[in-house]
Amino acid sequence: MTVVAPGFYYRLPALAQDLLVTAMGAAHRWRRNDPGEQRRFLEYLRAQDLRSAEQRQDAQWGFLRETLRHGCREIPYVQRLQRDVGFEPDDVRSLEDLARLPILTKAQVKDNPGDFLPRNRNLRGTVRSQTSGTTGTPMTSWYSRTAFARQWACVSLLREWHGVSDGLLPHRIQLTGSPVLDPARSNRRPFRWNHAARTMVVPVNAVGPEAVGPLLEAIRNWGRAEVMEGYPSALYSLALLGKSADIEGPQIPLMITTAEKLTPTQRVVLQEYFGGRVVDQYAFSEPGVFVGECEKGKLHLFPESGLMELLPLEGKVLVPGGLARIVTTSFHNTAQILLRYDTGDLARVAEHPSCECGRETLTIDSIEGRQSDLLRIETGSGIRYLTPALLSTAYYGFPAIFRGQIVQVAPGALDVSVELTRPFGEDEMQALLNRFGVICGTDLQVTIRVTDEIPLGAAGKFRAVIPWEGPK
Ligand SMILES: [Zn+2]
Repeated sequence: MTVVAPGFYYRLPALAQDLLVTAMGAAHRWRRNDPGEQRRFLEYLRAQDLRSAEQRQDAQWGFLRETLRHGCREIPYVQRLQRDVGFEPDDVRSLEDLARLPILTKAQVKDNPGDFLPRNRNLRGTVRSQTSGTTGTPMTSWYSRTAFARQWACVSLLREWHGVSDGLLPHRIQLTGSPVLDPARSNRRPFRWNHAARTMVVPVNAVGPEAVGPLLEAIRNWGRAEVMEGYPSALYSLALLGKSADIEGPQIPLMITTAEKLTPTQRVVLQEYFGGRVVDQYAFSEPGVFVGECEKGKLHLFPESGLMELLPLEGKVLVPGGLARIVTTSFHNTAQILLRYDTGDLARVAEHPSCECGRETLTIDSIEGRQSDLLRIETGSGIRYLTPALLSTAYYGFPAIFRGQIVQVAPGALDVSVELTRPFGEDEMQALLNRFGVICGTDLQVTIRVTDEIPLGAAGKFRAVIPWEGPK
């Protein structure tokens, strides 16, 4: 949400700001979302959730053929494919059929965005969104209101899996990058209300040592928060600020993290501090295929949101527990159709695909971060790969580490910077070095240094891992 004319807005009293935040929130919701469709699709998903694997697969492939039919009518890229490859939407019934279509790269979409939009360019009622590229290459996407509504229906169902009674409209704390508070002023109330959405809107940049006390007290006094949502790093820094100020954490039954990799340390600290359950969610930003964590802690694809193909890395084979590239075909977004889109993200293939929760949908063990963040390690003993997710486990069991950044400075050397909440003892530093040795292998040269502040990357995103890009 963007607050218009911040100068004007910032001069208003807090209660008036609440009203404006509510109004802007409602306008935003109507412009981008289709609340009626969100409710309908949520009801559909609730019913699907109880159906058999075959029934859900039928629905999934039905949506796929509908997407292909729409593409053949409207989208130049799909029309060209139909001509060149010669497929009929109604005949596409298996992954083998689909595999006749080429993989689509991010570069193709960036270079020729018009190729993936409806031929008549009737984009009325669609929303353009700029996704922040973590490595500084943003991409423009177009969403239809239906696509947006259906994605939020998936989020709503995920909330209900974890005990929220009305997934559409829970009492919610939203940690956001939205500038709803003047960062230049100290605010006695470090959040604003979006009354219509029952949401306490907390701007991440306003939460510091001074604001954390009043904020946590307000959450406790409200006493109704069912779920807190935001980047894991934002939730985590709130918990750490509260802990270091010796404030007891208010109880929050559910925390849903999104967009960044949730580390094991973050999960444990959040669970301990707020007493609730931490659930990870992954909605691939451009196409909107949805993956959410179930009651048993496993990540499931929502098959009605799209197809997710797990493909081997170049020169490798796919094995249980191994790494895979994530290629998605999302349904529902008639404003921009991306078939077999290479998301650039990596998954760990499920070691045991079935889940105790009983859902027979596709599962994965984890999202391992961007393929572009994969470290290719080269030492005397050969070449191997380290994923951001694996590296993040290095900080596990070191509560003094607020966050860390790993920069690969040479094929066989890492510089690790850590921000601490209290000084490190020498034994802790040695233990951390040993931990890196266990994870990365002792042939890798690792240097650790303590720093006051790790700089943010493009679009204000924190980068936990930066691979070597060759000699400068
Ligand atoms: Zn499950």
